[in-house]
Amino acid sequence: MKCLECGYETELNQKIITCPKCGGIMEIKVKLKDFSFNNLKGRGVWRYKNSIPGIYNKLISLNEGNTPLIPSKIYKQTYYKFEGANPTGSFKDRGMTVAISSAVNSGYKVVTAASTGNTAASAAAYASRGNLKIYLVLPKGKVALGKLAQSILYGATILEVNGSFDIAMSAVIRLYKELGIVYPLNSFNPWRLEGQKTIAYEIAEEIGAPDNVIVPVGNAGNIYAIWKGFTELYEVGAIQKIPRMIGVQAEGASPIAKAVEKGLDTPEFFENPETIATAIRIGKPVNWRKAIKAIKESKGTALSVSDSEITEAQKKLAREEGIGAEPASSAALAGYEKAIKEQIVDKDEKNVLILTGHALKDPDAMLKMDSKIILINPDHIEKIVLGDTNANN
Ligand SMILES: *Cc1c(COP(=O)(O)O)cnc(C)c1O
Ligand SMILES: [Zn+2]
Repeated sequence: MKCLECGYETELNQKIITCPKCGGIMEIKVKLKDFSFNNLKGRGVWRYKNSIPGIYNKLISLNEGNTPLIPSKIYKQTYYKFEGANPTGSFKDRGMTVAISSAVNSGYKVVTAASTGNTAASAAAYASRGNLKIYLVLPKGKVALGKLAQSILYGATILEVNGSFDIAMSAVIRLYKELGIVYPLNSFNPWRLEGQKTIAYEIAEEIGAPDNVIVPVGNAGNIYAIWKGFTELYEVGAIQKIPRMIGVQAEGASPIAKAVEKGLDTPEFFENPETIATAIRIGKPVNWRKAIKAIKESKGTALSVSDSEITEAQKKLAREEGIGAEPASSAALAGYEKAIKEQIVDKDEKNVLILTGHALKDPDAMLKMDSKIILINPDHIEKIVLGDTNANN
């Protein structure tokens, strides 16, 4: 394990979450031996258990992962990795099974997470499965309805704060640093990313290494996790190249895209992040160092898209491809189309878009769209369907 801030290095230790020296973000280095896709057993995240470091005597799992890779109807050679098909409806489940199993195996009884919603829903479900007490810290009034409802359903204790996600996150960091008995489930926890990297393993096993992988970016853990997965496979010779990682942020919350655009090594954070894509409404991504590393080393890039581009992309995914993704996930398609236009990617390359969460997470976003709802006189239904506009009078 190595600290990305002060460079401190140590042997693998499941109890380490942040750097024991400086509190910085830790990286877990994994070197695979004798990896082959032909020797794997089972489905989902734990199919790749030999690539996931740590000891797991007891697995807390809901059979997450093994999500569909759906070919696009619009763009040939383009696929959607539909993470909305996970047990709680987002990719967060992949990381949560590893982090919660790790917490249980390390003897923790209490867990916590700050969240824009999906981490909360996922953490609440896995805490329940693992018999752990959970405290969620949420920005009041800023969590999409489906995600809040899930957190209530699974029985979590919800602590609300006034202000943005970033304020909730600093409260969780304080709680974890002051009270050693509380295990944090945010993505600064590197064990979570070890689960999320299986997105790359699944893609590689199904179609080999793509040319580009397009990922919505919030706290910026997932783009790094996916890159890490591909890198491990490349280093062991299981794939022949590492895809370019293309991060997509919403304009109102785009510190990483701006840093890449301006060629800065350190992003300028957003004090008041704003976007309809609540899952990526993050001004101060904790994993920015990891994201910038993944983008640089893969020769990728990051770009930002507007809220109206996100909504258009969400509609296009649903109405032309038949796929229901939440706004943050739809940013991947908006970003992809922008990248094609700006000749950053070629639509005839092999491209994979990560659709991070399910449309049902955010009913308000769907209900705001133009709809075709008509109150009818049921006696005249045939006439109405045949286009007689007077039949309702
Ligand atoms: C968490 C989340 C993201 C952002 O992932 P990061 O790892 O924080 O960058 C994007 N989309 C959805 C739906 C999410 O739940
Ligand atoms: Zn350090």
